[in-house]
Amino acid sequence: ARLANQIAAGEVVERPASVVKELVENSIDAGATRIQIDIERGGHKLIRIRDNGSGIIKDELALALSRHATSKLKNLDDLEAIASLGFRGEALASISSVSRLTLSSKPSSQDTAWQACAEGRDMAVQIQPTAHPNGTTIEVKDLFFNTPARRKFLRTEKTEFSHIDELVKRIALSRFDVAITLTHNQKVVRQFRSQSNPRSIERVAHVAGRVFQREASFIESGYEGLELYGWVLPLGSNTQPQYTYVNGRMMRDKLILHAIRQAFEEATGSQDTPGFVIYLNLDPRQVDVNVHPAKHEVRFHQARLVHDFIVQAIKQVVEPQPS
Ligand code: ADP
Ligand code: MG
Repeated sequence: ARLANQIAAGEVVERPASVVKELVENSIDAGATRIQIDIERGGHKLIRIRDNGSGIIKDELALALSRHATSKLKNLDDLEAIASLGFRGEALASISSVSRLTLSSKPSSQDTAWQACAEGRDMAVQIQPTAHPNGTTIEVKDLFFNTPARRKFLRTEKTEFSHIDELVKRIALSRFDVAITLTHNQKVVRQFRSQSNPRSIERVAHVAGRVFQREASFIESGYEGLELYGWVLPLGSNTQPQYTYVNGRMMRDKLILHAIRQAFEEATGSQDTPGFVIYLNLDPRQVDVNVHPAKHEVRFHQARLVHDFIVQAIKQVVEPQPS
C-alpha cells in the first residue's frame, strides 16, 4: 500500500508547497474560517496546518488516510459539478506515504479528539486519544525521508519557503473571508485578517502589493452566466503579480492568460501585460477541473465564448496608450 501511495504521491506531492496546497484546500473544504500554517526549515522538517473546520469523526480518521477515500463526492452527478477543492481522495494517503504524518481532529459532535497516523509498509493506521479544540491539525514531518530520489530535488530552505509563501498568497486571494497566518521557523511571515467583502481592495493590496490600492482599475462584467471581476494595473507599473481564479480556485490556465494578453494588446498595442487579480465565475457544469492533477488548468465547455468574454471585459477598462 505504501508503494502505490508513493507512486501516486509523485503526481500531487512535488515539494513542500504542494503539501501545503493540498492541506489548506482541505481546511477550506471543511469550512474553516481560521487557518494557521507553521513551517520549519522550508517545510523539509515540518509542515503543520491547523484549522477550525468541521473536523473528522473518529470512525473516519483511518479512511481519510486511505487512498481514494473522499467524503466529497457522493454520486456521479457531483463529478459534473465539483464545488469543493479536493475530490480525488489521494492527497492525505500520498503525503502520508512520503512523510511522518499525524492527523488530529475533533468535530464539535465529539467530546474527545483523536489522533491518527499510518505506519509501516502496509500503512496500518494507529489511533489514540489526544487533546485538540474543534477542528483539525495535520502535521507532516520529514518530507521525503523515505524517498531519497525525491528528497534530492528539494531546493534550499529559502527557496522552498518562497514557494510556500507564494502559494499562501494565491490562496489568500481565493478566500478573503478566511483568516490565514503563516509562520516560518516560529516567526510570523504573513497574517491575513478575515474580510467579509470579497471585493475589498484591502486584501488584494496586502497580498499583491500596495500599488494595487494606488493604481489598479476595478473591472466588473457579466454575460450569459459568465461573471468576471478584479483589478488590473496600468501598463508600465513596476510590480507584475498576476493572479487568476475560476470559481474560487487559483488557476494558471492558458486560455485565460491568452485572453488577458490579447485584451491588453488590442487595447494598447503593447505586448507587455501588467499585473492583475482576476476572478471568473461561471456555472460549474460549464467547466472541467479534472484536467490536471495539480488542478491549475481547466477545460471550458464553451471555450470560445469564455475567451471572448474575458477579452471584452478587460478591454473595457484598459486605456489605450497615449501615442
Ligand atoms: P480529498 O480532499 O480529495 O477528498 P484528501 O486525501 O485530501 O482527499 O482528504 C481525504 C478526506 O479527509 C477528505 O475527503 C475529508 O473528508 C477529510 N479531511 C482531510 N482534511 C480535512 C480537514 N482539514 N478537515 C476535515 N476533514 C478533512
Ligand atoms: Mg484534498
